[in-house]
Amino acid sequence: MTNTSRPLDFSRRHVLAGLAATPALTAAVPATAQTGGPRWTPQQAQAALKDAKGTKLVLLGTAGAPVPGRSRQMTSHVMLSNGSAYVLDCGMGVTDQYARSGIPFSALKSIFITHHHADHNIEYGPLLVVGWINGMHLDVRAFGPPPFKQMTEDFMRAYKTTVDFWAEDLKMTPLVTIDVKEVSVAGSVMQDDNVKVSAIIVEHPPVKPALAYRFDFKDRSIAFSGDTTPLAAVATMAKGADVLVHETMYVPALEKAIKDRIAKGGWPVTFEAVMAHAKADHTPSEDVGRIAQEAGVKTLVLSHLIPTIDSISISDDTWREPVAKYFKGEIIVGQDLMVV
Ligand SMILES: [Zn+2]
Ligand SMILES: [Zn+2]
Repeated sequence: MTNTSRPLDFSRRHVLAGLAATPALTAAVPATAQTGGPRWTPQQAQAALKDAKGTKLVLLGTAGAPVPGRSRQMTSHVMLSNGSAYVLDCGMGVTDQYARSGIPFSALKSIFITHHHADHNIEYGPLLVVGWINGMHLDVRAFGPPPFKQMTEDFMRAYKTTVDFWAEDLKMTPLVTIDVKEVSVAGSVMQDDNVKVSAIIVEHPPVKPALAYRFDFKDRSIAFSGDTTPLAAVATMAKGADVLVHETMYVPALEKAIKDRIAKGGWPVTFEAVMAHAKADHTPSEDVGRIAQEAGVKTLVLSHLIPTIDSISISDDTWREPVAKYFKGEIIVGQDLMVV
């Protein structure tokens, strides 16, 4: 063995050991499968949007929690109405998924953030910079809880050098900042030619404020629970909406996932403490059904799915069943890139 081969041998062993320790890579999950059904391809999403008459919602990411490396992306959505695009939440993956939908960045009008957890906001800044490089207009607006203005300015300051290099090189007007409106109380958020947007405050401790939003387009209304414990206020906000996208926690699978992880060792928490946290912050499936029934919505989309772990397969029927006990309308189990 020569001296030069040693570092290679070492690095290969290191990589193989790393692979063996990574459940997401060793689990027997086909590359094309998400838990419980086929993945929507970019081509399918693009075809559905091309043929669409009226306002459409694209589920860009349907996983709850800021965990990378899963088949499902973290939470994000885009609504397309009359050629204008509105993004709700910017979990990791939003920029790629937006591009896969085929909607041009020049169509992006506004961005809305429900709350400042990483699975909802971590790719907000990158969406702006990469979006701007790819045609996003500088008059895009953003809405979200405080300190959203400061967060935006701080991000722009951090990436000024990167933006300026690109602006100089391609003779573009640099992205300096964007217009941000902070939302800290319930009520009207914005209105333009396509849509009226309103918000309410939801319960998601310790995050304050955390928001749910309702979008009233001319032809369709779409409400989003954001992350919240079961809340009558969400049913009131979503009253009569065409679509309610609600976060969904399937407790039996979550309990199993937590027990499995604790059993593996190296996670210094108790089962009871983790479940108490989950129940103080999120909505069990049965309650999602109750809230949708109370709201009287036509279609309920289950998203921000908890747990989302590639090694635990949960069928669409399993997600749907506890919800369907209480909700009698249409139930859609969210899939990334699904067009609703
Ligand atoms: Zn979340
Ligand atoms: Zn959250």
